[in-house]
Amino acid sequence: MASFSIETLTQLSYLAAAALFILGLKRMSSPVTAVSGVRWAGLGMLVATLATLALIFTRASQFNLILVIAAIGVGGALAWVSGKRVAMTNMPQMIALYNGMGGGAAAAIAAVELYRGSETNLVHLTMATVGAFIGAVSFSGSLIAFAKLQGLITKSVRFGGQKFVNLAILLVTLAFGFMVVSATNPSGLPAISLFFAGALILGVAMTLPIGGADMPVVISLYNALTGLAVGFEGFVLDNAAMIIAGTVVGAAGTLLTQLMAKAMNRSLGNVLFANFGETSSGGGGVTGTQKAIEASDAGVMMAYSQKIIIVPGYGLAVAQAQHKVWELAQLLIDHGVKVRFAIHPVAGRMPGHMNVLLAEAGVPYDLISDLDEINAEFETADVALVIGANDVVNPDARANRSSPIYGMPILNADKAKNVIVIKRGQGQGFSGIDNALFVLDQTRMLYGDAQAAVGQLIQAVKAAG
Ligand code: NAP
Repeated sequence: MASFSIETLTQLSYLAAAALFILGLKRMSSPVTAVSGVRWAGLGMLVATLATLALIFTRASQFNLILVIAAIGVGGALAWVSGKRVAMTNMPQMIALYNGMGGGAAAAIAAVELYRGSETNLVHLTMATVGAFIGAVSFSGSLIAFAKLQGLITKSVRFGGQKFVNLAILLVTLAFGFMVVSATNPSGLPAISLFFAGALILGVAMTLPIGGADMPVVISLYNALTGLAVGFEGFVLDNAAMIIAGTVVGAAGTLLTQLMAKAMNRSLGNVLFANFGETSSGGGGVTGTQKAIEASDAGVMMAYSQKIIIVPGYGLAVAQAQHKVWELAQLLIDHGVKVRFAIHPVAGRMPGHMNVLLAEAGVPYDLISDLDEINAEFETADVALVIGANDVVNPDARANRSSPIYGMPILNADKAKNVIVIKRGQGQGFSGIDNALFVLDQTRMLYGDAQAAVGQLIQAVKAAG
């Protein structure tokens, strides 16, 4: 009776956790409710973990219980410390690491089931094996993605016939997987170890040739795969919370991958196999010279403007200039200038990067517009103030068919009457190509670190009136 009531309680807790995951995700879709969305989903995870722990208490041996509690303690402490310390600009590699852990955990569950040989139901065996394959690929692939973004691996490994080698690894791994599933009792088979080795090698081999420029999309893809792997293993363990959480992560990750690929005007196949971002280095064929402006002149121009659209980009995040930018915007608003912020879907290094930074600085959401809302407004803007953004305002994406980023939707900063670009020098953006915006007649470059340059603009606007 006692164990029945614990199980019922656990199932009810899983239901509550699932509801919290879904509601949390829903709230994450708007910057206004995003923070509470993260808390709701986190609460869901806590409920699911405590419910599972309660169940384990009734079933596991003392030794296993100590192992579980130690794992939760060590994992929780590491996640807490690293989550607190990570810089906003390093968030993509942090996510890669967490994804990898999720995929690895799913593969580990399958490994236990397969090596133990307790699973004889063909459907469950197939689920465990498919989940193991996806989880292991996602685990090793995510670790390579992390190493690339962290600068631990600086070169992309490429050689002739690489795709065929990867295809061969895939086919051999699938063959081992088939042997595992079709055996009456796979527990003693060397095929299990070979299958896991193949899947891990495949994740590494698939990710090594992909350029750093495409890593965020790849991470998002591995995120979706990890969710799927967890969902499969949820079926194996008959765990509703895992099935729902895995499916939700899988679906959200897939949508995010699509969104990012679309915002870069790339297909997923192109991201995975075309080596963009390294071959395109220096391209673009932009001719003309950049014209510098002093902060004092830029300040006067802005103080006497009627409408200014601010375009934040990755450089703003690196310089942590969001607070200064909001200070400048408030000053301009006090001067009677209409100020708007224009956010490109892939500005920065991860989706929502700029929204999070501006929200942190206290910029009201009604001043922030996305690409579709704001693009028509650039024509009526006196100044487009581009701060540490590059690719997302490159007009070649709209007009130059030979540009590697041709077709990527951009913010039409070039349509503004005047453009002021804050960046440190002649450095290229993420895609490694030159920017036609910087040499236009109406464009002036305010060279410097974003935070320092915006600070100078604040002084200049104050001095102007
Ligand atoms: P970007 O094209 O990477 O350009 C950033 C610019 O900021 C650089 O040209 C750099 O020029 C400047 N910069 C760097 N540090 C600075 C500092 N401290 N102060 C001032 N300027 C600084 O950035 P973006 O326009 O935001 O475009 C994002 C890129 O990331 C796109 O190519 C996008 O496809 C890619 N991406 C984004 C996501 C996403 O989800 N957000 C995902 C995948 C890929 P200097 O060196 O001259 O200063």
